[in-house]
Amino acid sequence: MSFKYTKPLAKLIEEFSKMPGVGPKTAQRLAFYVLKNSPENVTRLANAIIEAKEKVKYCSVCGNITDQDKCEICQSTNRDRSIICVVERAKDLIAIERTGEYKGLYHILEGVISPLDGIEPRNLKIDSLMNRLKKEKIKEVILANNPNIEGEVTATYITKLIEPLNVKVTRIAYGVPIGGSLEFADEVTLAQALMGRQEIK
Ligand SMILES: [Zn+2]
Repeated sequence: MSFKYTKPLAKLIEEFSKMPGVGPKTAQRLAFYVLKNSPENVTRLANAIIEAKEKVKYCSVCGNITDQDKCEICQSTNRDRSIICVVERAKDLIAIERTGEYKGLYHILEGVISPLDGIEPRNLKIDSLMNRLKKEKIKEVILANNPNIEGEVTATYITKLIEPLNVKVTRIAYGVPIGGSLEFADEVTLAQALMGRQEIK
């Protein structure tokens, strides 16, 4: 008979191995870390997971992660409310916020158009972006999609939708390498990409 972990341990390893970037070995290491830890620490970890899931919500305006109806950025009086930066994911927003160079608002699409994966425009938060452009006094939309095929397709699609509205559309300049991803770009590169954005006509 092959080696089997005792059931509760096997279950824990299985749950860890479902996490992104966690292979079987890391899952095993994490499970043993839990076993070696004090009950207090493990309870704190478990509670943090449950509390994050219960309390973290998505901003009803931009889709950012928040614990309120509207996120801090949407509520802030110090932001330029005439610019919206469109990003694919909340982690892209975080990457741009880290540069400290951007003072406008955001809109999170929650993905990219990717027909091969069955993701069409209607699966993304594009309708809500268009509604914001009609309601809010937006002068510029910065498309900060990632520099890969899906990102470009999505940016082009949104540009066409915005065309009839009197809103300037810009695309961030890519010092971010093609095929790369915003979240891995360093702050200086990303800040330069933002400042070097160009109007799409
Ligand atoms: Zn928001």
